[in-house]
Order: sequence, then C-alpha cells, then structure tokens
Amino acid sequence: MPRINDHYLKLQAGYLFPEIGRRVKAFAAANPQTSGGIIKLGIGDVTEPLAPVVVEAMHLAIDELSKRETFRGYCDEQGYDFLRHAIAEHDFRARGCDIADDEVFVSDGSKCDTGNILDILAPGRENVIALTDPVYPVYVDTNVMGGHTGPRKDSGEYEGLVYLPMTAENQFCPPLPARKVDVIYLCFPNNPTGAVLPREELAKWVDYARANDALILFDAAYCAFITDPALSRSIYELPGARDVAIEFRSFSKTAGFTGTRCAYTVVPKSVTGLNASGEKVQLHKLWNRRHTTKFNGVAYVVQRAAEAVYSSEGQKQVQATIDFYMENARIIRQSLTALGMKVFGGEHAPYVWLQTPAGLKSWAFFDKLLNECHVVGTPGSGFGASGEGYFRISAFNSRANVEEAMQRMRDRLKI
Ligand SMILES: *Cc1c(COP(=O)(O)O)cnc(C)c1O
Repeated sequence: MPRINDHYLKLQAGYLFPEIGRRVKAFAAANPQTSGGIIKLGIGDVTEPLAPVVVEAMHLAIDELSKRETFRGYCDEQGYDFLRHAIAEHDFRARGCDIADDEVFVSDGSKCDTGNILDILAPGRENVIALTDPVYPVYVDTNVMGGHTGPRKDSGEYEGLVYLPMTAENQFCPPLPARKVDVIYLCFPNNPTGAVLPREELAKWVDYARANDALILFDAAYCAFITDPALSRSIYELPGARDVAIEFRSFSKTAGFTGTRCAYTVVPKSVTGLNASGEKVQLHKLWNRRHTTKFNGVAYVVQRAAEAVYSSEGQKQVQATIDFYMENARIIRQSLTALGMKVFGGEHAPYVWLQTPAGLKSWAFFDKLLNECHVVGTPGSGFGASGEGYFRISAFNSRANVEEAMQRMRDRLKI
C-alpha cells in the first residue's frame, strides 16, 4: 500500500464554509417559513455576468476554433503572446512598472498559483514563512500540505508559521516580524478585512525584504477595487520591489472570471533564491520549468476573453461592474455605521469587516444575524485567531439583496 503525505492529516478538516452551510441548513429546516428567504452576504464570489466585450471575444474565438484554417491546439504553457503583452503593457508598464512580457505567466487561477509557488521553494522547514492573521486560508493550508509547518496547536495556529496580526489596534497594517523570515505573504486590498496598505506601509515591506533577503508573495486579486489613485495597485510600483516580489493577479474578481478561470503570476527575472551551495538562482527559471512541466495552458477562448478586458470598451464595462459592487459596499458601510457598528474596509475592496457589537464572538454574531435577520455573513474567527470579534460582509450581491439585508438589520437586529 502506498504511504500518504502525512502533512495532510494536520489540516483542520474544511471548517469555515462547511460549518456555515451546516448552521444555515439547520436554521432553514427549523424555520421553513422565513419570509423573503435567507440572504447570503457571506460569499466571496461575483454575481454579475461577464462584460459584453468579453462574451463577444469568446464567441469570435470559438468560431476560429470551428474552422480548420484558424483552429488552434496547444498554446505556449505560459500563455499567448497577445495576452502576456496586453497584461504587461496595461497592468504594469502603463503604471510605470518595469515588467517584461515574458515575466508574466498566464494560468487558470491565483488560488492554484499561490499554492503551486511553493513547488520552487525548499521542501520541509528550511524557510521561515510569515503570513497575516486573519488570512486567506489557501496560504496556510498549502504550507501545511507541503510540510512547511509543525502540527496544529489548540489555538488553531500551526507551529513554525509566523503570524502577523491585523486588527483595528494596528489599523490593519501588519507589524514587521520579530524574527527573521524568508517568505512573506501579503494580500492587499485584503481578503477578508477589506484593508489596503498605504504606500509607505507597503514600502516598509519591500525594504524589509531587501534588507533580509526575503521573498514577498503579493496577492493583488482585488487591486481593481482600489478607488484612490494614490494607493499602489501593484507592489512593483514601489522602488526595489522587482528584486524581491512575486505578484499574483486574477481576472476572477476584476472581470467576473470566477467560473471562466484566468489569472497570472508575475515573476521578475531579478528575483532570486539560494541553492544548496548558497548560489543565487533566478526564481523565473524555476517557475518557468514548473509551469511548462505541470501545466498546459489556459483555453484559447478564455485568453481571448481576458485580452478583451484590456480594450477601451472592456475597461469601461468591467469598471462599471466594479463600481456596482463598490456601491453595494458603500451602502453596507453606511447602514452598519448608522446602526452604531464599527466598520472597516469596503472602500478599496468588496468586503466590509465589522467589529461585532457588544463584544460578541464572531460565531455568536453569526447566529444572531441568522436568527434575527435571516442574513448570512462570515465569522472573522474563521480566517484566523486575530479575526475573532470581527465579521465579514461581502458586497458581491444584487442591489436588492444588499438593500433588503440592511433593512432587516435596521428593523430586527437587537443589539
Ligand atoms: C478570490 C481570490 C483569489 C482569486 O483566485 P482565483 O483562483 O484566481 O479565482 C486570489 N486571492 C484571494 C485572496 C482571493 O480572495
């Protein structure tokens, strides 16, 4: 019989979303006549349809594939030149970031990329890994699977990981680690807190990485939601970041591609790591090797669809959808503030992070909101110990659902 990867057994069996599902199901079964139904503001998934230019580009592409003369089979694993060029040009060079077309690797998702990147780093516990708390659970779980941590402690934290708390007390700016770390995960605008780092805070991290030979894994999945032009959308807007950072971007939230699947990872050729003899090796070389060996490219129709996002019409259309979600966020923020709640985020991200009223624990507030208002959100404690006492409300929904949920909270929530 084969031996298994024992590290998988250290994982907490899918806890957060299954537990939410279980409680919602139990509530619905006990209360079959909830008027108007249960409104789910817990989801981190888009709700609005693809932009018309994106759909048109996909139709054209499928027509090409239907004819022998224009049919295409395998593409370069790294992505078609037309898309890599559009990405590098629009998302980076137009903003003053020095990123070459061949430093962009097109993929089918940032979730996979943020997990797969560990393939090119040392196995086991050689690197000290830092991440924020609360955090996107994928970063933690993929490190556990790769054997980069010790066992799970009662607190829910894993031995060996360095957790950087992000709370109202530090304005959601994670502190520099107390011990030297080799790899740092940063996600801004942040899921789940909706926080964004001011430029000088981000610069602090680039400086830290440069001074300590650390690698920053920067997840910018929500950069399109930034409304203040003074904030950095890419880590490469900071001087020196090209030498120390890998950036993950996705069309999922930017252009509603959560079901269509397209993302990309930027690995500048100037980012290096050490081999066993202490010599510097380009991470670009290793990632290229990994990507071309274990991945076979994103569908042609999807890459054409992603390219269409960068047309001037495409930019207008995806921006209109982002504005729509951000208006939802504004309504949520305003309504909760009027109820006397302390709210964070929701200004440059589609998530509002609220401090639970009356010092309730995250799950207690979840139950209260479900029971009194029939509204579902996400308990902050599910994203890490420092998320306790907070609660995430997503702006990804219809206007009618958002307004109805806020009305119910005004009318029925007993604080
Ligand atoms: C939604 C999301 C992504 C995007 O993942 P895809 O696999 O590209 O859909 C990446 N990072 C975070 C933090 C997210 O919330």
